[in-house]
Amino acid sequence: MTWKIETKCLQEGYKPGNGEPRVLPIYQSTTYKYSSTEHVAQLFDLTVPGHMYSRISNPTVECVENKIAALEGGVAALCTSSGQAASMIALLNICNAGDHIVSSSTIYGGTFNLFDKRFREMGISITFVDQDSTEEEIQKAFLPNTKAVFAETIANPKISILDIEKFSRIAHKNNVPLIVDNTFATPILLRPIEYGADIVTHSTTKYMDGHAVSIGGVIVDSGNFNWDNGKFPGLSEPDESYHGMVYTRDCGKAAYITKARVQLMRDYGTPMTPNNAFLLNLGLETLHLRMERHCRNAEKVAEFLSENDKVISVSYPTLKSDKYYDLAQKYLPNGCSGVISFKIKGGREAAVKFMDKLKLAAIVVHVADCRTAVLHPASSTHRQMTDEQLLQAGIDPGLIRFSVGIENVEDIIDDIRQALE
Ligand SMILES: *Cc1c(COP(=O)(O)O)cnc(C)c1O
Repeated sequence: MTWKIETKCLQEGYKPGNGEPRVLPIYQSTTYKYSSTEHVAQLFDLTVPGHMYSRISNPTVECVENKIAALEGGVAALCTSSGQAASMIALLNICNAGDHIVSSSTIYGGTFNLFDKRFREMGISITFVDQDSTEEEIQKAFLPNTKAVFAETIANPKISILDIEKFSRIAHKNNVPLIVDNTFATPILLRPIEYGADIVTHSTTKYMDGHAVSIGGVIVDSGNFNWDNGKFPGLSEPDESYHGMVYTRDCGKAAYITKARVQLMRDYGTPMTPNNAFLLNLGLETLHLRMERHCRNAEKVAEFLSENDKVISVSYPTLKSDKYYDLAQKYLPNGCSGVISFKIKGGREAAVKFMDKLKLAAIVVHVADCRTAVLHPASSTHRQMTDEQLLQAGIDPGLIRFSVGIENVEDIIDDIRQALE
């Protein structure tokens, strides 16, 4: 029996037996007890399944990983301490010093810094490409040492929609995986594996948690990529730190995610805590209901903004005028999340004045949770830049990122109207 996505949100991952707790318990334990040293040795050799130490795996976290893997249609998942840790481990699992990554340039600022600064310091080079370019144009970015292609399905904060099939064709032509960050869409609105993505990452801090209570991330392995193509010796050659285990030979479809867990999570140590996994699971149980409301509310707010003469432009892909309307119709037929960006007349000064007048929408350095929130990149996340530098980076000084919550949409629109006036 295959459940539909709404049912999976509630029923996947944790399946209690007779007389066991109905709700996923928090296994608040770093450690596990065994009846023999022989059993511990087998665990360390990865010849029997089980938990050794909660840096590597934990029963509560495991249930949430299995739920998210089911939602995305992957073979397995690995939860991390943050979205940043998910991006880091997803790439470092297959890239070493001397390797190269091709990434879309329209990605989350934190991921941009990770790639452009930290990865370069480690000897991993990066070429940023315009994700809207032709396949031929993007192909020029590839080098013999390229190991991965990275992009966001709905880019934060530009709300650009990725042509996933185009990106997966380019990646696979070059024998490397497509890794996508699906944070804003969530598997409710889009399941990138169905369009050829090989690895899917999330900042679970956003919609998946949904209530702004815990930082977290996850990596989902589709199980579809052939790592045994000569480009990924870390997966296809013996791992000396596991007595010569070969991930592609010994772990089947879960080769990539097993390496990420037993090697990178073991050595870098960025696990999700059981407590945060419990909170994340509560968020996942209602994700389908919340995403539906976020989308319907955002569509109405975007329409209101696009008809207001104090607003210069609105980016939201369900608007017919939006650059990404066609891609959104194809990849996001049920909606494009709650995040809108728009510019108002009067530039930076007007934007600041507008935001200070909002009563319901809160000024926060967060996005994509159940309460309506607003952020002005030019005076917060990008405040070190001059107006000229901002424009070069594609961020208008008057740009406002508006995260539409699940309140009554008339109250949200009334709040925007009075602030604009
Ligand atoms: C927030 C965010 C991240 C980083 O996640 P954290 O949980 O804050 O570490 C990565 N990607 C996207 C698209 C994000 O919005």
